[in-house]
Amino acid sequence: MNKRREILKGIATLPLLGLTASDLLARPAEEKDFNRDFFKELGVRTFINAAGTYTALTASLPHPEVIDAINYSALQFVNLEELQDKVGERLAELLKCEAAMVTAGAASAITLGTAGVITGADFAKADQIPTDMTGLKTEVIMQKAHRIGYAHAIRNCGVKIIEVGTRKELETAINDKTAMLWFLNANNFLGKIKDTEFVEVAKKYNIPCMNDCAADVPPVENLWKYTQMGFDLVCFSGGKGLRGPQSAGLLLGKKDLIAAARKNAPPNGSTVGRGMKVNKEEILGMLVAIEVYLNRDHKADWTLWENQVKMISDAALSVPGVTPEIHVPEVANHVPSIRLRWDQTKIKITPDAARDALRNGHPSIETVGGSESLDMTTWMMIPGEERIVAKRVNEILSDAAGSTPK
Ligand SMILES: *Cc1c(COP(=O)(O)O)cnc(C)c1O
Repeated sequence: MNKRREILKGIATLPLLGLTASDLLARPAEEKDFNRDFFKELGVRTFINAAGTYTALTASLPHPEVIDAINYSALQFVNLEELQDKVGERLAELLKCEAAMVTAGAASAITLGTAGVITGADFAKADQIPTDMTGLKTEVIMQKAHRIGYAHAIRNCGVKIIEVGTRKELETAINDKTAMLWFLNANNFLGKIKDTEFVEVAKKYNIPCMNDCAADVPPVENLWKYTQMGFDLVCFSGGKGLRGPQSAGLLLGKKDLIAAARKNAPPNGSTVGRGMKVNKEEILGMLVAIEVYLNRDHKADWTLWENQVKMISDAALSVPGVTPEIHVPEVANHVPSIRLRWDQTKIKITPDAARDALRNGHPSIETVGGSESLDMTTWMMIPGEERIVAKRVNEILSDAAGSTPK
């Protein structure tokens, strides 16, 4: 039942982009001899991910070594706190920071980090969050331009968010109710106060500051850049570019603050974090994901993505009227990406309809973009899949142009 090999055979006439056969056959579910096809039984659609690391699309596929670690740890008991201790120490060493913990994702890291800042070492206070904030600090300050939906993870701790624009406003807003300053790394260039200056203000007033770097690897250096810049807490998603377990993330930073965050996390009951459980599988999987990620040939990854993106872009360009644009977002999802626009008087399909056609084809392909463009990345594809995507994009746009697909 080797579905994947069949698909690849069918497109064998397309150029290989210097990939080896083992690249093409890396880690697909179809390569394993599973006794049951669970998604098929359930009628759940699987697809080629040309969209990127979206939670709703299950974001990323863990590296095979991560899956091995998950399977290994599923078969034996350990003490959860002892495992967090040991994995935390190892992560801190690898990521050049004081301390680390594995969380249930970046959003969880934001909540636990905030809770830790509020309670400090006083475990009794953990029970108060979020409904009885008597005697606790209740304000977190951020720049207006940094306020996104994920800031809800801060408000889970019963605190109010104070928005500021300028450095002057920030310094004025700081008072004895201020628990923390929060920064959204992806919006560094949108706010008036840049990262280093933000840290400088936090230090001046001795207030903990956190940087949300959830989607900000690659580049790999970001894993230590911001703790070294002086942010007291930094968080990452485990299941985006790191390709660890999708339900895991990292909270990195100062020893006392990580210890305090852990007080607010499972296995401790009566905490805001009790519902954000990570078990041995995610904890070990996250560690292994970091080990694998640090050892990757990042340049080779980049070259592969560039070649994949170019192949899809060329396939689109061969349809007269298409304007492909290859771009790399500066921060967050910093990978080669494609934006396809076309002259809709010549190619009679909207980007929304093209996205639907890709989704409803076989194999199904997920892409993103708005009403103006069809957008794609290749970094979450299994190498080789870019050829299927290139072919389908060419077919759909050619059809709509009334010409023969190339
Ligand atoms: C994805 C994301 C999060 C949430 O990450 P999870 O690991 O899914 O919890 C938080 N902040 C930003 C900026 C993100 O991009």
